[in-house]
Amino acid sequence: MDFKKYITIVEDYPKEGIRFKDITTLMQDGEAYRAAINEMAEFAKEKKADVIVGPEARGFVVGCPIAYALGAGFVPVRKPGKLPREVISQDYGLEYGKDQLTLHVDSIQKGQRVVIADDLLATGGTIEATIKMVEQLGGEVVGVAFMIELTYLEGRNRLKEYDLFSLMSYS
Ligand code: 5GP
Repeated sequence: MDFKKYITIVEDYPKEGIRFKDITTLMQDGEAYRAAINEMAEFAKEKKADVIVGPEARGFVVGCPIAYALGAGFVPVRKPGKLPREVISQDYGLEYGKDQLTLHVDSIQKGQRVVIADDLLATGGTIEATIKMVEQLGGEVVGVAFMIELTYLEGRNRLKEYDLFSLMSYS
């Protein structure tokens, strides 16, 4: 399937100079959304993932249905103050801004095989912070999966040690 035709490019959002890749037009098409998730789920299945980890909020949109398709668990990564129990946290830099992510301390068991899923890889900051937290809890990151990879931001270079899957790339 030509997934790119379902992505809308929004100029100057959320800041001037950013060409935002809007995945909501893919999600709102049932066939395209299912086909995209199925391909990502196939990757996670090959990696024998026990758990899918996804950063809020678009990481939930891809991570939850992958977990459901595999019968694997889903673990949310959230912004500070959003998870109700004890967390570990990690600072990170975004393509546009800086922030912190958190993960429940008991969400990953030692040795669990983890695939991290998000809608888009830009600089790789979000995923790098997520990987650090998963590994701190003893999880084994067996793969990272994205709908979209912005190759010109070279996020892949920060993730060299990991198996990386992306459905579409923009250069
Ligand atoms: P990174 O940390 O790799 O620099 O940025 C990736 C994160 O920013 C992802 O969680 C993603 O949701 C968000 N993001 C950055 N640029 C875009 C974009 O153009 N489209 C979408 N959908 N998300 C973006």
